[in-house]
Amino acid sequence: MPKISDHASSLQEAVSVRYNNAVYDIKRSGKDVIVLSLGEAFFDLPPASLEGLPHPEGLHYSHSRGVPELRERISRYYHEQYGVSVDPEAEILFTAGSKAAIYFSMMAVLNPGDEVLIPEPMWVSYPEQARLCFAKPVSIPYPNKVGDFEHFLTDRTRLLIINNPNNPTGYVYSKRELQYLSDMARANDIYLLSDEAYSDFLVDRSFVSAGCLDEAKSHTIVCNSISKNLGISGWRIGYAIAGAEFIRQLLKINQHVITCPATNLQQYLVRNFDSLIQTTTPQITDVVNKRSVVADYLQKQGLEAVSGSAGFYLFVSISPSALDSETFSMRLLNERQVCVVPGFGYGPSCDKFVRLSVGSEPLDRIYRGIDAIKSLIAETRHA
Ligand code: PMP
Repeated sequence: MPKISDHASSLQEAVSVRYNNAVYDIKRSGKDVIVLSLGEAFFDLPPASLEGLPHPEGLHYSHSRGVPELRERISRYYHEQYGVSVDPEAEILFTAGSKAAIYFSMMAVLNPGDEVLIPEPMWVSYPEQARLCFAKPVSIPYPNKVGDFEHFLTDRTRLLIINNPNNPTGYVYSKRELQYLSDMARANDIYLLSDEAYSDFLVDRSFVSAGCLDEAKSHTIVCNSISKNLGISGWRIGYAIAGAEFIRQLLKINQHVITCPATNLQQYLVRNFDSLIQTTTPQITDVVNKRSVVADYLQKQGLEAVSGSAGFYLFVSISPSALDSETFSMRLLNERQVCVVPGFGYGPSCDKFVRLSVGSEPLDRIYRGIDAIKSLIAETRHA
């Protein structure tokens, strides 16, 4: 085989995706596995019909910023829901999931050798995407407070990425903390990228977008998608909201890499957005409530989770076990048929945690999964 670039071969696999691929393989062989590793909540949604959508337009490329009506609808959503005003003509761009929106934003900001600050636990793709830009991810170890972040700034820092609410902890940044970070970005002339993929997963819907604290959008990039909030991850539709000049830069990257997300799926969203929101809203409330029921169960079992209230993940400590998180998770999968994601994927300071999701299994099976975690901890306890 001809040589692969050093760059590609040094890249780490996305650990959560690796574990979920293992689940698909086990299930295909006919075995049961309790899946606490999936990064999505399964909603009961009607089958999507493409009938009646604009035809033949839906078969063809659409505007590289996204279908205009979808830009308008999501801009209105960000305004009504979170109070961020967005110009649909200039300040929003649709791409292939928020994963691409985040990566393209990094491409637009970073020169080789520039530094990206990322507090741990950090979503698995941030550091690898920074490396794909020949930049240097600088992680802020767990535990940390926003007041500590500035100690990690150097004259090479160009970007700070936060994930609000946080995957995997469910932590939600307060308005004060966001203000502090927004001020810090402005004072140091760096970008604050706020990944808001789980923005609706709060029981009281009290989410504050980083977009609220930078009206001019001079130092803020917001990324979001339909994957989590609408439970439609497979369609790969996400977006970035930022200042007009920044979006113009993203547009060039979008044009060269994906052209546009699937046109008919964008059209479907325009037509069905309101009914989708109506359908998913109560289901989001259910899953966030389920998260707190599971948090109580963990506590009753004597297991500790990092405190957080949003989303559908829990970041559970395995520190009484002598195993690292990868060995622990592999043994849990192979010996007890329970799949979680090892904490090391969220940064080296998180190797004594595993992430579990309450989004795709019923409560009784989640409890069985937790019992298995507890018993593996007991079996591998430090001497
Ligand atoms: N950010 C976070 C924190 C995520 O957990 C995910 C998906 N697991 C994404 C971004 C990417 O989601 P998508 O590309 O499907 O929008």
